[in-house]
Amino acid sequence: MANSEYEYVRHFEQPDTLPPSNWIIVRIDGRGFSKLSAKYAFAKPNDKRALDLMNAAAVETVRALFDVVLAYGQSDEYSFVFHEACTLFDRRAAKLATTVATLFTAEYCMLWPTFFPDTPLTRPWPTFDGRCVAYPKRRILRDYLSWRQADCHVNNLYNTTFWALVLKGEMGNREAEEALKGTLARDKNEILWSRFGVNYNDEEVVFRKGTVVYRKLEGVGPLGGSSRTQVEKERKRKMKAEIAVEHVDIIGDGFWEERPYILA
Ligand code: ATP
Ligand code: ATP
Ligand code: MG
Ligand code: MG
Ligand code: MG
Ligand code: MG
Repeated sequence: MANSEYEYVRHFEQPDTLPPSNWIIVRIDGRGFSKLSAKYAFAKPNDKRALDLMNAAAVETVRALFDVVLAYGQSDEYSFVFHEACTLFDRRAAKLATTVATLFTAEYCMLWPTFFPDTPLTRPWPTFDGRCVAYPKRRILRDYLSWRQADCHVNNLYNTTFWALVLKGEMGNREAEEALKGTLARDKNEILWSRFGVNYNDEEVVFRKGTVVYRKLEGVGPLGGSSRTQVEKERKRKMKAEIAVEHVDIIGDGFWEERPYILA
């Protein structure tokens, strides 16, 4: 296109290229889901249909983006891990974050009727914001994912105890909040067990651990290389790979040692 006198406006754009050789996380989070979960009467503390919908949208997002090596989700959020060598959009943060957030939003809305067949979706439509963070080392990336899974555990233990006090213990919301102020994990486990006969470890694993989504590439050695045929081969291999959806611990080393290809 010929240059025009208006072209100078381009120079007002801020560069946002993420540093090379960093693992890129795009975390999306539902906007106003406290309100949305009340509007559609999500079960408290955990609506299984809503989590299944989040996970289905994440699977399709991973399927569409070959550079994503793993995703981890809980509540109304999902973190997508892009390989440190990713070159998608020349690693421009805004393009990565908006593409993931809009892809996820479209999938969430289009898949809604599959998970809520009797509850039509109405305006305001669900939307998700997205942000990028770059981590220069695998160790820090692992700590990031541990942070999200630990957050899932802390929130779920609190919410499970809170809603037990409200729904089974007939406490008001304020009263339950007061009862839990300053309590430690073992106090909450004790309340659940002694007052309601609930063993927290028997709660559904998807509630306690959240969800990991990744391409299953085991059995095949790393292809590596950057020639065009190798890149094309790698793409085909990823396209064919089964996408795993698991509710497992990713804080310990076990998950990663059994699947070394994920962060290879
Ligand atoms: P923001 O727009 O700032 O993100 P928010 O209302 O979405 O505000 P979050 O901190 O993201 O706040 O919390 C999400 C809320 O959505 C949770 O507090 C919870 O009440 C609700 N929620 C999300 N998923 C579920 C689910 N599967 N079952 C029940 N409630 C859920
Ligand atoms: P990128 O992902 O880099 O944006 P792109 O294919 O979307 O790639 P753009 O520069 O954004 O490239 O151009 C959008 C293209 O979409 C146009 O070249 C045109 O071919 C097509 N297009 C967009 N709107 C219309 C329309 N209303 N009618 C016909 N073609 C359209
Ligand atoms: Mg590095
Ligand atoms: Mg939210
Ligand atoms: Mg959230
Ligand atoms: Mg375009």
